[in-house]
Amino acid sequence: MTIVLEKIRRTLRQRSVAVCSAILVALAVVTAIVAPRMMSDPVAEITYSEFARDLGLGKVERVLIEEGGFTVHLSDEEAFVRLPGDLLSASYLDRLASSGVEVDFAKPGIDASGIAGFVVPLVLVVAVLALLAVQTDFNPAARWPRVIRNIPDRFDDVAGQNEPKAELQEVIAFLRDSEAFTKVGARIPRGLLMVGPPGTGKTLIAKALAGEAGVSFLAVSGSDFSAPLIGIAKSRVSKLFQQARKRAPCLIFIDEIDAIGRKRGGGGSAADREFESTLNQLLVEMDGFNTTAGVIVIGATNRVDVLDPALLRPGRFDRQVHIGLPDIAGREAILQVHARKVTLAESVDLSSIAKGTPGFSGADLGNLLNEAAIFAAREGNLAITRENLEAARNKVIMGLERRSLAVTREERRLVAVHEAGHALCACLTPGSDKVHSATIVPHGQALGLVMRLPDHDRHCIPVEKLEADLIVAMGGRAAEEIVFGPKRVTTGAASDIAHATDIARRMVTEWGMSSAIGMVRVSRSNDSFPPEVEREIRRIIEEMYAAAKTCIEHNRGALDTLVEALLERETIDGDEVRRIVSLADERMAA
Ligand code: ADP
Ligand code: ZN
Repeated sequence: MTIVLEKIRRTLRQRSVAVCSAILVALAVVTAIVAPRMMSDPVAEITYSEFARDLGLGKVERVLIEEGGFTVHLSDEEAFVRLPGDLLSASYLDRLASSGVEVDFAKPGIDASGIAGFVVPLVLVVAVLALLAVQTDFNPAARWPRVIRNIPDRFDDVAGQNEPKAELQEVIAFLRDSEAFTKVGARIPRGLLMVGPPGTGKTLIAKALAGEAGVSFLAVSGSDFSAPLIGIAKSRVSKLFQQARKRAPCLIFIDEIDAIGRKRGGGGSAADREFESTLNQLLVEMDGFNTTAGVIVIGATNRVDVLDPALLRPGRFDRQVHIGLPDIAGREAILQVHARKVTLAESVDLSSIAKGTPGFSGADLGNLLNEAAIFAAREGNLAITRENLEAARNKVIMGLERRSLAVTREERRLVAVHEAGHALCACLTPGSDKVHSATIVPHGQALGLVMRLPDHDRHCIPVEKLEADLIVAMGGRAAEEIVFGPKRVTTGAASDIAHATDIARRMVTEWGMSSAIGMVRVSRSNDSFPPEVEREIRRIIEEMYAAAKTCIEHNRGALDTLVEALLERETIDGDEVRRIVSLADERMAA
């Protein structure tokens, strides 16, 4: 019943918008047609002969000389005679005057048709603007800011993120009963920032916060404040806070707050001034409402460092809640939340997927399950299988599999050798993460890929692991050199080299892992490091390259078997890689 009522109300409101629009359009059209007529000269035009006749009959009382001719005033009417200016000689005018006709010159005025040409577009523009205003103010669909009441989301819908959730409990309590807090004089935050990468659930958490507290949620985005017309952005800020005060207790959520709150540059352009006045308005509004109002503003951003310091001062956005990428346990929990909405085959193990998705955000994981469901549907599966999930993960990680990419047989062999080199080194170097899979199926920009997975998320990385990473990174090029010779190595190692250089550089300049440089932090000056630092970086990489070569030379049989397996099956999993390597080992021992 209430739904029906709501529907009727909405149609009515939309109807009134439609009526308003129609009237405005009609007005504009009528003005466009009528205005030029009203403005243009209503005086009839007569020929010179007619004028001469009237003059002869003594009917002409007055002539008004204008541009391009003159207006003739007869006793009962007026008429206009067109006459090129150079024919209106002084002697002619004298004769007119002496024959009893009053001769006068028109004031140079605005051309009537010129007025019409100016007024009509103006009227149209005003009409269109009015229409827009009507749309945004009365049309429920386009209403701004978006207000959501009775939010269904709760903290239970947010998987993991236990620390932020705990930090926000106090805010919930305040929104539920702000009086209890103010009575004892507790200081309540007005604004807080949620800081973290995209897709980590900042919006979701803010919504759930409003849901838990049972208050309205006013959602806007920083980009809403980059309006094309001067003054609109600023007035939107006022409107936002005015709405919030009306609906208190409530929560304002400003997504991408950096779009409105970035540092003021003090530039002189109109856009700069507009930006500053908008930001100033935000500051004024933040200062203006007192905490008893029961309004809390949450801003979301990935970068606090770009924000204007004035925004972070006490009483404004003076609290930060960090929302990070989920760890393995968090990823599994998020997968479980999203898995409620899809059907999974029994063989699917979400914890192993969680292990295989380091660096994924909550949004990425939602996307992964969605892609997997699409793969399953395409294959006609009733439930999502492990293979569907694997394919979806690869798709999410690297972009669509480019199986169709034309790779020559020779290139394919080259990629297989390169990847086998990575896989072999990863298998045999102590401290390396376990190989999860190796493939020569192109992914995104990469022609092949060896994926390794940690058993747990790492926060501190030991030297042993860094060196293992370097050996594994060098393994691709080392295998190419050993199998094809130094003259036939390829450009395929470019990203490996970039990655290795990065690690080695940080070992030397940031992590105190070079005895020659010692435990000091070295910075670039003029964009380069001192020569001894560059020497150390080079030495480390060369040593690791030599270690990779030794590893491969001593296990050439295993390398060749891996290459054949890759060429045959394109993708082999970690267990298979380990089996091949240990079998080759045994053969060596025998
Ligand atoms: P952000 O605002 O940080 O960019 P969102 O809140 O828009 O991220 O998250 C996008 C989507 O990702 C959410 O709608 C939700 O489906 C999913 N998601 C992100 N984090 C989580 C989480 N911790 N638990 C459940 N779902 C999550
Ligand atoms: Zn490589």
